[in-house]
Amino acid sequence: MTRRKQGGPGGGAPAEPRKADLLVQHGVVLTMDGERRVFRDGAVAVAGGVILEVGPAARLQAAYRAARVIDARGGVVQPGFVDSHVHLSHHLDRGMIPDVWPESREHEHWLPYWRALTPRDAYLSALLACLEMLRNGTTTFSDMSGRHAVETRVRAVREVGLRGAVTEICWDLPPHPSVGIGGTRACVRALERIVDAYPRKPGSLVWGAVNFSGMGRATDKLIVAAKALARSRGLTMAMHQSFGRRDVAAFGQRGARSAIAHLHDLGVLGPDLALVHMIHVDAREAELLRRTGTHVIHCPGASVRTGMGASRHGRFPEMLRRGINVALGSDSGNYSDFLDVGRQAYLAATVHREAKGEMPTISAHQALEMATRNGARALGLGDEIGSLEPGKRADLVIHGRGRPEWHPMGDVVNTLVYSAQSVGVDTCIVEGRVVLEGGRSTLVDEEEILARVDRAAHRLYRRMGWTTPSPWPVT
Ligand SMILES: [Zn+2]
Repeated sequence: MTRRKQGGPGGGAPAEPRKADLLVQHGVVLTMDGERRVFRDGAVAVAGGVILEVGPAARLQAAYRAARVIDARGGVVQPGFVDSHVHLSHHLDRGMIPDVWPESREHEHWLPYWRALTPRDAYLSALLACLEMLRNGTTTFSDMSGRHAVETRVRAVREVGLRGAVTEICWDLPPHPSVGIGGTRACVRALERIVDAYPRKPGSLVWGAVNFSGMGRATDKLIVAAKALARSRGLTMAMHQSFGRRDVAAFGQRGARSAIAHLHDLGVLGPDLALVHMIHVDAREAELLRRTGTHVIHCPGASVRTGMGASRHGRFPEMLRRGINVALGSDSGNYSDFLDVGRQAYLAATVHREAKGEMPTISAHQALEMATRNGARALGLGDEIGSLEPGKRADLVIHGRGRPEWHPMGDVVNTLVYSAQSVGVDTCIVEGRVVLEGGRSTLVDEEEILARVDRAAHRLYRRMGWTTPSPWPVT
């Protein structure tokens, strides 16, 4: 990308050009708006962190006098990716779970990890996760299960310059969270403190979320109280659900007809609830989701990494056909192992057709919708982000096309989803501020962060007595 200060008026316009802070011009602009308009030689004008106009470059150049111009010539401009489900505190243990690790033993890994993690580790984990998302073109995310005070994550999000919802680890059933917040009342009080300390307002860059583990580790009382809290603050609540047969069975033990029917009976389904994973869902449950407008967060990377069966058992293509809003999440450092929504979109567009033997089950175009506008809706931000439209917050990504994966470019969306994914993300803009430029953070020293992360992880593993797992002799 080339950049310059614009000294004079745009020229050629009959009326006086309007002032703008930023004009991104000459890129292929994927608006992801209601009509999914694409401008081959497009531009986006921004002022005060908000999009003023999107359209042909020639028209916007004439209409605006911008303090800064980014020439995206040859590049592709899209709304920032939305990662609808991540765990900021689960990034220092990446690569430490061996391939053979049954679901029933997972707590043997993560409970000791949670216990050993210091507040400084939690901050560095969040910093690493945010940096990785930034480099991969994610501008907005939703966190679940952060360890230690939420301030550790708020600081990291602000330093890297992303937009995101953060929370603290919270559940009230065994295995008891002696490592975090335990007990129903304590969980609700903690969530209340978080959402009041960091309230969400239009344009918020960081806010407290009512997100908690679920997975059969939350009582009905906690689920209902948390949902009431989310509603009272105008927030969307998120929880894991129906990932494995074990957490579905947990609802059976409560005498429920089905997990989703039980949540419906509790009165918590609705457009202000996002359920994460949702692999083991039957047709009647899917219909309940559709009727209530409940969102689904599909994490294909987490499922294929751990063999949970999203493509074998999941109904994600069917859910989309029914009109359920399905978004994408990367989950954590030891499930998908990467925070990259572009890669998640590739998986969403491919694994289901492989398992079901039909094409297309989820198209590349649908996958890109899941990674942008569907994610925005699932986070309750559909009016603010997820597409490039006047009045929306100026969160956008520019893909440079200086890599082989981007050539030749037939259909731009096919090329983006199947070939390029997030490879070659050059620029990220959040709330009108350039936070990634030339593929590098403009705000933090990336090398220093990576070195600090490696040192912290080494100390952490030593405290835990962990050794790096390998089936090969490593000397
Ligand atoms: Zn998760």
